[in-house]
Amino acid sequence: MTKSRRVLSLFNTLTRRVEPVLPVKEGYISFYTCGPTVYNYAHIGNLRTFLFQDLLKRVFRAAAYTVTHCMNITDVEDKIIRDSQGGLPADATNEARHEAMRALTERFTAIFLEDLETLRIQKADHLPKATEYIPGMIRLVQELETKHLAYERDGSVYYRISGLPAYGCLAHLDREGMQAGASVDADEYERDSVTDFVLWKAAKPGEPWWDSPWGPGRPGWHIECSAMGMELLGDRVDIHSGGVDLIFPHHENEIAQSDGCLGHRWVNHWVHGEFLMVEGQKMAKSAGNFFTLRDLVEKGVDPLALRYTIQSNHYRKVLNFSFEGLRAAENSLKRIRVFRKRMEGEGQPGSGPWKEGLEPLTRLEQARNAFWNALADDLNTPEALAELFTLISDLNAQDDHVALTREERDAVLAFLDEADAIFAAWPHEAEATLDAEVEALIEARRAAKAAKNWPEADRVRDRLKELGIVLEDRKDGTTGWRRG
Ligand SMILES: [Zn+2]
Repeated sequence: MTKSRRVLSLFNTLTRRVEPVLPVKEGYISFYTCGPTVYNYAHIGNLRTFLFQDLLKRVFRAAAYTVTHCMNITDVEDKIIRDSQGGLPADATNEARHEAMRALTERFTAIFLEDLETLRIQKADHLPKATEYIPGMIRLVQELETKHLAYERDGSVYYRISGLPAYGCLAHLDREGMQAGASVDADEYERDSVTDFVLWKAAKPGEPWWDSPWGPGRPGWHIECSAMGMELLGDRVDIHSGGVDLIFPHHENEIAQSDGCLGHRWVNHWVHGEFLMVEGQKMAKSAGNFFTLRDLVEKGVDPLALRYTIQSNHYRKVLNFSFEGLRAAENSLKRIRVFRKRMEGEGQPGSGPWKEGLEPLTRLEQARNAFWNALADDLNTPEALAELFTLISDLNAQDDHVALTREERDAVLAFLDEADAIFAAWPHEAEATLDAEVEALIEARRAAKAAKNWPEADRVRDRLKELGIVLEDRKDGTTGWRRG
């Protein structure tokens, strides 16, 4: 199958239009995504963003681009300091404070990377930790001072938003409403309190610090991404992405810092993923609907079904996550796996007439084009998957009548692999995982029956039924099984 490089279009938050992505360097995409703040487990809302970015990257790679992806690890920030310094005495040394911060962030970085692996999210090419790029952040703040875009006050340095006429271009802020001269020290704030924001924070008692030209202190959150992104991807980046909650102030401030320093546009395409609701409600710990990946895995959720559920919704629509949706995803995946198995095998001699007008290879090419056209149009995954399922129905019907040839079956399998390079939800190995789960369930049912725990035995039987497994109780007392 030939791989031609397609032009892919994405919605650009900067212009509010779907625009073709025309990379600075032909065939290459530089891609920056804001990574996690590593002080806690990522919840499924965070993971939705990372899954959407993984899909975006995989689509470009499948469309024959070379993608260099940089995802930062925020390992110094207000919440990290709040959560890591509590156990230390007031007179703890700076080294001890750094050590406590590192212990927390290393633990949650490892957990985060495990979660990505569980969800088959490809690791970024660069995973810089903010604490390893402090000199670059200091240089960037100095550069902004030289350009009169930053000023120092009491050991902290602030960005002068009145110095950049384009400030507000991403979030489409009304410049009239901006409060000239007011400044804010917090990293996160609302758009109605837009002010000069902090680039470098003077050390407060009880906080770890670094030496700087302005005295002991630490970087603000926004400068971290600008410094790491410019150092690792250069001064012209094709795509920068994050969740919609990062548009303001984080990305607006990244633009101010980077464009202000460079004197030209740093990022061409800003792409934002929508957030996630749980069963129609905003996810919150207090509402009892707050889930991490580990919570779901404990409930028996297949991580690939979660991946599929999220990927099958358009990234710019609010996703309503539900357990019913997860079950539907499991069924969709099962359908693809069963179809793949069928194509791997040999067809049976036909039993009926040729379905009129359906020539398998032509139909396949048509579906493949429609699949790609959907993805090329702002990553329309629901439509791409709908094309795939229509193809499966058509070819199943065809194969019932006149068996597809080996050559046709192999062409279909190649397309399933091509699509799975993007969705990464129906790999061959999933079968092995499923087999292990089925064996464990059969053993649990046997134990329940031996203990005369009939409700439990029935529950396990129903779960097996959901997985499409047919049990065969044998005369010798053992239980065999097959896929229904
Ligand atoms: Zn960022």
